Amino acid sequence: MLSMTGTRAAAENTDPANIFGMDESRFVNLASEMSLKPFQGREIYRWIYRKRNVDPGSWTSLPASFRKRFAARYSLELPKVASVLESRDGTKKFLLLLRDGLSVEAVYIPQNGRVTLCLSTQVGCPVRCAFCLTGKMGFTRNLTPGEIVGQPFVLERECGLDDNSYNVVFMGMGEPLLNLENLKPALGIMTDPDGLGISRRRITVSTIGVRKGLEEYLAVPGMPQLAISLHSASEETRKKLIPAAKELPLKDLRGFLQDASRKNRERISLEYVMLDGINCEPEDARQLARFCSGLKVKVNLIPFNPHPYVDFKKPTQRKAIAFQDILAEMRISSTIRQSRGSDISAACGQLAVFHKGKQR
Ligand code: SF4
Repeated sequence: MLSMTGTRAAAENTDPANIFGMDESRFVNLASEMSLKPFQGREIYRWIYRKRNVDPGSWTSLPASFRKRFAARYSLELPKVASVLESRDGTKKFLLLLRDGLSVEAVYIPQNGRVTLCLSTQVGCPVRCAFCLTGKMGFTRNLTPGEIVGQPFVLERECGLDDNSYNVVFMGMGEPLLNLENLKPALGIMTDPDGLGISRRRITVSTIGVRKGLEEYLAVPGMPQLAISLHSASEETRKKLIPAAKELPLKDLRGFLQDASRKNRERISLEYVMLDGINCEPEDARQLARFCSGLKVKVNLIPFNPHPYVDFKKPTQRKAIAFQDILAEMRISSTIRQSRGSDISAACGQLAVFHKGKQR
């Protein structure tokens, strides 16, 4: 028994360490540890992220002897595609397998000549929104910077995207501001011109509004735009839909939005999933308009995409438009988001839940 454990530990120690997701300064340190110059560390960083090349053997600007030593010591592992569901409208939902056998979803959404990638930050989610399947999975763990950066890296390849010609929304599995520790370095690599080079303006981080996370996020200049998942301007209804929202009452959330409105030129999006009989009556619209009044925000109305795992229903189109009309009368700008991928049931978490079930 003892010797088996010893053998396994020895085997684990000889595994090359996966360093995909390391930032530039760490590659500079790694270069000096391996007797290279700092500029060569920066070169490694550019080969990996800017040139999207994780094969050290082909890094021709670096000495062949170094490339050999590097490959023996380190690996650059990306999430693996476990399965893909493709919708009639071109939306593709990827289930990505992580090194420890867990999985997350990432979605490719083409629309009106533009592409948006919807990415995850956690395996499962501790927020447990009432209408969300990921919430029902519970929380397993945070994604590492490499697992976050690996998602656009893999989807670019799988979907034949030109480097960085797409938008990114962190609206997949997980609450991004509960994993800021890893999201911040990942965003650093994604937005760095020598990294993935995605413009900060093309990235949106969506959150329910986590007090500590918002304080930290808003304190860093130059972070990507935020979107707030509001779903109701009534405290009582919002707490039912987003149980974790009780930590930040609406009046405090509004304070953060006022602060962000002062600091940012862009308007912050308020996401509002429309659930029939719950939050899309005329009084809900008036309450939402009062909440938005005086803030630099725009409202994204998202008619619920029904799935078999919860009882919520989508409002009729007429009802959604009447809701929007009330907002317009009260001078609040809004859009009704077209549902994408409804035939592959784009319910966030569905593929991952199914995969988890199969593994048992
Ligand atoms: S909607 Fe987002 S925040 Fe809410 S449970 Fe699902 S993944 Fe978490």
